[in-house]
Amino acid sequence: MAANKTVVVIGGGFSGLTAAVEAAEAGCDVVIVEKNPYLGGRVAQLNKYFWKLCPPNCGLEIQFKRIKNSAQVRIYTQAEVEEVKGDEGNFEVTIKTRPRFVNDRCVGCDACAQACPSFRANEFNFGMDKTKAAYLPFDQAFPFRYVIDEKACTKDCGQVCAAACRYDAIDLNMKTETVKLKAGAVIMATGWNPYDATKMDILGFGTARNVITNMMMERLSSVSGPTKGRIVRPSDGKEVKNIAFVQCAGSRDENHLSYCSYICCLASLKQATYVREQYPDAKVRIFYIDIRTPGLYEQRFYWKVKEDQNVTFTKGKVAGITEDPATGDVIVEAEDIFSGGKIKANFDMVVLATGMAPSTKESRSVKAVKYTPEGFVDATGKKGIYAVGTLKSPVDVARSAQDATSAVMKSLQSVRRS
Ligand SMILES: Cc1cc2nc3c(=O)[nH]c(=O)nc-3n(C[C@H](O)[C@H](O)[C@H](O)COP(=O)(O)OP(=O)(O)OC[C@H]3O[C@@H](n4cnc5c(N)ncnc54)[C@H](O)[C@@H]3O)c2cc1C
Repeated sequence: MAANKTVVVIGGGFSGLTAAVEAAEAGCDVVIVEKNPYLGGRVAQLNKYFWKLCPPNCGLEIQFKRIKNSAQVRIYTQAEVEEVKGDEGNFEVTIKTRPRFVNDRCVGCDACAQACPSFRANEFNFGMDKTKAAYLPFDQAFPFRYVIDEKACTKDCGQVCAAACRYDAIDLNMKTETVKLKAGAVIMATGWNPYDATKMDILGFGTARNVITNMMMERLSSVSGPTKGRIVRPSDGKEVKNIAFVQCAGSRDENHLSYCSYICCLASLKQATYVREQYPDAKVRIFYIDIRTPGLYEQRFYWKVKEDQNVTFTKGKVAGITEDPATGDVIVEAEDIFSGGKIKANFDMVVLATGMAPSTKESRSVKAVKYTPEGFVDATGKKGIYAVGTLKSPVDVARSAQDATSAVMKSLQSVRRS
């Protein structure tokens, strides 16, 4: 039987988007299956990219434009793959889609959100603010279409949004749907999740109000974030002039993540520049075990940030983080390997450089796949199924994109097999 020419890409982050556009431009029909109501994955949540410090939206915009220009890419958002059956060239993929309650007549006018009386925690900003139950996931969301959160919307309040919409775009009768389709190859690109910082009880996340994670810091620094880019502390809105970064928060620890998360040192160096740019007198202290800035990042980025006299580096493990209840300050206790002593210091805010955990730690829909003990894809176990990007190991965006492109080469062989 001739191979089917469709490539199904599971996950619409940077890896999946790259795989999709490369496969489409090479002549394949492509279906993207994305769990979120928008494409872009974690990169959409970043404020800037290391090392050039440009906005990630530039890179995403290019991929979105390539998708818009291609008639060969179909997108299912709020969708997950339930099952992949069959063999290389002839897979049957079962997709389940959750209702968005907003159809493609939506023009993004915001009337539904303005009328909507219900609120929900904004998971795009890690719960640091709220949106209405009818919401746009973020300013540059693609597809640029509102969504109604069914957990936050009651039937009665849904009618209020529907009445406010002049375009007949709200459909409260949408249901969960199952779609089955044929594909010649499947690319898994479901990426990573931030490691749960509450699991490290000595680091104060969830108990000290001004301890946040590195991904929260990306949102806090972003003009589209909860404070419109003002880096202020969550407890009282005070400007953050004295901040600590705690490296390897979970990573390289046999009780949490046994591996190095690859990007955390670079992310903290990058975030140090966010603070220094906003507050010229701010002091930044980075607690680390080893600074790891692989390849060219060492000279291009680490050395540059190190030149800043207001950024200091302390080699030593952090032993405890607590809150001073009177001031909201965060107290960090750590060893200082170079001086041989112990440190106890107060900060306005602390950022935990939490590691990257594979998304497959929680959801493993493609059965043939073999996983490492940490949950990364080790080998897909079947010809015609390929895994890419941070699903295989923690990497940066450039390496995710390169990996996706090489998986497309393999997919072309799968769909062109006769
Ligand atoms: C604090 C921090 C800062 C960073 N800063 C930078 C930086 O400046 N520069 C840089 O190069 N890298 C940076 N990175 C790394 C960067 O985020 C990753 O390289 C990038 O997200 C990898 O993209 P991906 O597509 O592999 O994964 P993801 O971005 O995780 O995308 C995966 C996609 O799959 C979807 N998905 C998940 N499960 C399913 C499922 N079951 N079904 C369907 N879809 C699913 C997700 O919703 C998501 O859209 C940073 C990382 C961190 C932690």
